[in-house]
Amino acid sequence: MEMNATRALPGHGWVLAACLLLLMGLFAALVSTTQLRPEESRPVEVEPLSDGVLQLRFALPDDGAERWALWFPREPVDRLQLVSADGWRSEALDFFRVGADEGILPAGYAFLLPRNARGAMVVEAEIEGGLHGSLRPVLAQATDIRRVERSGVALAGAVYGGLLILAALALALAYASRDRLFIGFFGFTVALVLLLQAMNGHLYGLPGVRFFGLWQLQGLSALTLIHAAAALWLIEAYTMPGRGYRQARLVRGIGIGLIALAAVCLLNLPRLAQISQVLSAVGWTLAGIAIFGMLADAARRGVSMAWALTVATALTVLTGVWVALARRGLAPQGPLLHYGYQGAAVAFALLLALALTHRIGDYRDQRDRDRLARQDTERRMRREAARADLSTALQTQLYGLDPGEIPWQGFRLLMDHLLPLVPTESCVAVLRGYQGRDHLLVEPSDALPSVEHEINRRGLILRRQATAGLAVQQPVQPSAGGPVVAMEALVPFQVRAPGWGVLLLRRAGGEGFTTDEMSVIGELVRVLQLHVDQAAAAVKLRRSAEMDALTGTMNRRTIDIWIERIFAGAQRSGQPVSVLFIDLDHFKSVNDRFGHGCGDECLRAVATALRSVLVDADMFGRYGGEEFVAVLPGRDGAEARAVGERMRAAVENCEVRHEGQRVRLTVSIGIATRQRGEDSPTAAIARADKALYAAKRQGRNCVQVAPAVFS
Ligand code: GH3
Ligand code: MG
Ligand code: MG
Repeated sequence: MEMNATRALPGHGWVLAACLLLLMGLFAALVSTTQLRPEESRPVEVEPLSDGVLQLRFALPDDGAERWALWFPREPVDRLQLVSADGWRSEALDFFRVGADEGILPAGYAFLLPRNARGAMVVEAEIEGGLHGSLRPVLAQATDIRRVERSGVALAGAVYGGLLILAALALALAYASRDRLFIGFFGFTVALVLLLQAMNGHLYGLPGVRFFGLWQLQGLSALTLIHAAAALWLIEAYTMPGRGYRQARLVRGIGIGLIALAAVCLLNLPRLAQISQVLSAVGWTLAGIAIFGMLADAARRGVSMAWALTVATALTVLTGVWVALARRGLAPQGPLLHYGYQGAAVAFALLLALALTHRIGDYRDQRDRDRLARQDTERRMRREAARADLSTALQTQLYGLDPGEIPWQGFRLLMDHLLPLVPTESCVAVLRGYQGRDHLLVEPSDALPSVEHEINRRGLILRRQATAGLAVQQPVQPSAGGPVVAMEALVPFQVRAPGWGVLLLRRAGGEGFTTDEMSVIGELVRVLQLHVDQAAAAVKLRRSAEMDALTGTMNRRTIDIWIERIFAGAQRSGQPVSVLFIDLDHFKSVNDRFGHGCGDECLRAVATALRSVLVDADMFGRYGGEEFVAVLPGRDGAEARAVGERMRAAVENCEVRHEGQRVRLTVSIGIATRQRGEDSPTAAIARADKALYAAKRQGRNCVQVAPAVFS
């Protein structure tokens, strides 16, 4: 089965955790390259002169040819420009409009100081709009600044690239699993990429989405709210699948509320510029708390990966809140904080991807379960159909048969129906004393001689196994202790002791038969036996109504029916028919002298002797008492006389022994032949009767043929 073929990952929770840690370690290593070493930067004294103006004091070495630069972290401000007392003005930089010289994905605002800048310097930073509470510069050589900027580009590229790959993966998974949840995950990931790009100020430098800078802080708020709603919906769908969760509606409601707020922000009303930031921060935190709650609840219910996601959510929310506070100067600004938040968000997305992919395993399990159930149903239906087919075939084909042929034909039908269902090398039905006979049926039939030999050799053991009544399968070893060449299924037939019978099915190799196959074999064997026994009993019953119990020949009723048919047939074909009436001579005295038991014995012996003279086409029976009738289709008077003579002689020559006594008997026979135009036997019977009388009168032990005048 396929399910067993999948190779399981041992302790996969730990393996996953280790792999995630490895990824986080790589991320941290990348982050460390975006920071200047302490000895690379020079101290800068910062003094706020008024809102929006910072005075920066620093000293540059008097000698040396290095170019120096001031670098600010890329906080969302509308304009940032440096002005020195001697009239030098830097280029004005804008968070929402990335300058052509800033390159792609800038990590901060870098200002090259004038070439001739030496010694103590005082520069004013003019800042307009946005959030600049934590804007603090770093002073370092221009080459070092360029280096960390390049590392920042690489890091941002890695983060966005990773997330975009997750988004592409989500599409592939949506296609593979046809689960809408993955489309949701795609939306969540794309929203996260856009949000991070906007937060880092990169979105506004990218062709095609640059226009987004028009919304400034309100656009940032809108993206934050949209992302929060996407995360909320996704986690709701993940932790509360299906219906029946009251909280789910509430969560969806919050999501709609967040989207509505985002729409309001996108109206870009100047009056909302400040309040939108608070709204988005509150909305985002609220969504974070709701997600945390849903995940913690799911973890409690044992939903896979929910614990890891809960931790990642907590980290993302905490770092996110911290970043928001730091931007307003309400919390200390660490250089790693910015990236910590992004790292937590990416880790959350990655864990979510893992958690969602885990569901594919659930689908697969479900699909395997469905398939097994379907196969089981199909197997049952096939089995039921085979059973019904066999039953019908047995019913239609067994009942018209001669009793001796019923079991044989039954086994034939059993094999015809069983072998397509249970493929085997060979199939043998061996029965001893079943329905009064031995049977041996072999499929394929050319194996008969070798099977016969083998059955004789194993006779005793087979008999014991048959009488034990249990279906078993056993290995076939040509030599004791040798290799197993085949498996043999042995299913006993129900045969009255001392008879016995088994069905032997053989399959090459050591694979053997499944439980299901064994039960199919057992079931079909039971159906077969039921019908064979019933058919045999029915034939017996019919015979007892048609036959004479003492002699086993036809009784009077049957004779009357058949003689009518034979005469009607002869009338149509114009063939002659002769009727012989046979009566035992002085039989009363036999009874009187030797008793009725002896008389019965004599009747049987005479019946046998008389019948031995006849051929298959002739009809013979006991007409009543000690009188018998034979009807010979196709024979005229002369031929009938010859037959009658042979009958008479057969009885005369027969000696009956009963309890030490020898009895000799004779018969008188009267014969009549059908006259032209006679389609009924009445007249012929009367003539034969008269002829019999004549034979008696003539002295018995003789044959008389009725002349036509008798009628
Ligand atoms: P015959 O026909 O030669 O004139 O003499 P019979 O003695 O055979 O004549 P009858 O017809 O008078 O006797 C028939 C006897 O057959 C009467 C009866 O005792 C005997 N009989 C008839 N049916 C049976 C039977 O089923 N078993 C035995 N043992 N005897 C029977
Ligand atoms: Mg008689
Ligand atoms: Mg008689």
